[in-house]
Order: sequence, then structure tokens, then C-alpha cells
Amino acid sequence: MTHLATTAGPLAATAATSAAPAAVAHKITTSDAILAPLVVSFGAGVDSTAMVVGFWTYGVRPDLILFADTGDELEETYLHVWLFQAWLEAHGMPGITVVRRKPTKRAPYETIYENAWQNETLYDLAFGYHSCSAKWKVEPQDKYVDAYFRAHLDAGGTVTRCIGFDAGDRDSERACKSRGTFAAPKADPRWTYRYPLQEWGWDRAACIEVIRAAGAPVPIKSACGLCPARTKPEIVELRFTRPDVFARAVALEERARNGKHGLRSVKGLGRRFAWSECPSDPVAAAEWAKPKKRGGRRKKSTQLPLPLAA
Ligand code: SF4
Repeated sequence: MTHLATTAGPLAATAATSAAPAAVAHKITTSDAILAPLVVSFGAGVDSTAMVVGFWTYGVRPDLILFADTGDELEETYLHVWLFQAWLEAHGMPGITVVRRKPTKRAPYETIYENAWQNETLYDLAFGYHSCSAKWKVEPQDKYVDAYFRAHLDAGGTVTRCIGFDAGDRDSERACKSRGTFAAPKADPRWTYRYPLQEWGWDRAACIEVIRAAGAPVPIKSACGLCPARTKPEIVELRFTRPDVFARAVALEERARNGKHGLRSVKGLGRRFAWSECPSDPVAAAEWAKPKKRGGRRKKSTQLPLPLAA
């Protein structure tokens, strides 16, 4: 196992010869060196890709790079996993280990979509819960890491889990919430969570710069195809570029609406709106995706611009 060095010297030397942009300063010090063993949660988006590239830049070889496959990622995301795997191999890094939730007797579904379809409902996030992420992304990784390092954990060791929250405002907030979730008193003694991008001060723009400078592929935004967090512009883009994905979303909404639970608290996958409301006419769809005026003033948009690609 090769891990992050415990002194800043070797890291600084590695960084000096790396492809990392000069603007991205290395900020790991002796006191906060990452402890072994080291496991990366790789979501196949910009942040986690940059985190892995950053480890390579600083001469750190993680023990595991885990990608939790919900079975409903977009094709571009699967392609990125494949392309980045090749980049990792060419750069002497460990490959990506794909983990998936295992079907059980009581919950026999193979994918997040099957889960919702069989239960005649929507993805949990549509109801304001993050249990879909816990069930399809966090738990499969936890189980794998727990089994992989069983002897180490039994001996009282902990595993460092690296999460790719960047140093921008939004992700800093997410990291705070995550710390609140995982930190004491409910802290899981098996894991020590770290947020390397924040320690390095890399925001999203820096992440993209680092990925490009290293010659690695830049991914699109990573999320399930039918993720309820998708913005209206993203939904419009899917409607016209990925009609199969859009059709599956509309079918799921219809099944949930007419199913055993019905839809009482939300309208559809968008919570306050259904994806099926997206017009088939491109001009009308673009209008539908615009932020609505409120009280005579245009509401400040929090939606990401098209295209989906970062
Ligand atoms: S990407 Fe969205 S739908 Fe998929 S697990 Fe995460 S929150 Fe749930």
C-alpha cells in the first residue's frame, strides 16, 4: 500500500514536477497528512475526478477508488468511468472498483429505477429525503470497505474516506452538513472523513483546470439520469438529447401518480413540478425552463447553465 507521505517535503517535490497549475497551491501539511489506508469515493463527476488527479499529482496512491453504480447513470458517466480507468492505468494508479447494492429477498431490485418502479413511487429525493443516496451510493461503499479492511478494522484501525467536496461555497456547505452527519456523537469509529479538495483550496474551476492539465477526461455533471435535483434546463436538454431517459422519467411519474400510494405531497420528480410538464416544442420548453418572475422581480436563478457538461 502506498499512501500520502507524512511530511510535506516529498509532496512538495512531487507537486513541483507535476502538471498541476501554479495557481493551485498545495496545502497539506505534516500535521494533517492523510492517514492510511485511504479510500476514495469516486462519483465520476468533476470534483472526484480532480481529487484523484490531485492524489496522483502529489504522489499519493489510494488503496481503493470506489464508484457506486446505481444502474441509472447517464451513458456519458459510464463512458467517463471507462476513460478515466484507462488514464489511471497509464499513470500507475489503482483502477476503479465498481460497487453495487446487492438485491435481497425483500428488496430484489438491481437498480435505483427498478426500486422506484416496483414500489410505484419516485426517487426518494423527490420527497425531500436523501435515502436514495444513502442506499445506492453510501451503503454499498461502506459494505465493501468494511469487508476489504475487516482485519485492519478488527485490530482497531480506521480507514480514511476521501470525499470530493470542492472548496466552493456550495460544496463547503455540503461538507459542513456531512460533517454534522458523520461527526460525533454519531461518528462511525471505522471511518475518518477527509475533504482533500477543500484542504487544497480547489474550487470547481480549479478542479477542471487540474483535470485538463493532467490530460485526463473532463466528465459531465454526475447524477442519476432521473435525479430529482436536476434543474429545468437540464431536463429540457435530456428531453431533446436523451428522449429515452426522459420517457422513462415520464413513465415513472405516471406509474407513481396512479400507483398504490399516489402522489399527494409532490407533483413529480421535480417535486413542485413534473418532468412530464416539459413541453415537446423546443421554444415552449425553453420558456418553461426560465426562472419564474415573483412579485414583479425576476427570481435569481440557481440553475446551472446548459449544457450538462461541466
Ligand atoms: S444522484 Fe440523485 S437520485 Fe441518484 S442517488 Fe443521488 S440524490 Fe438520489
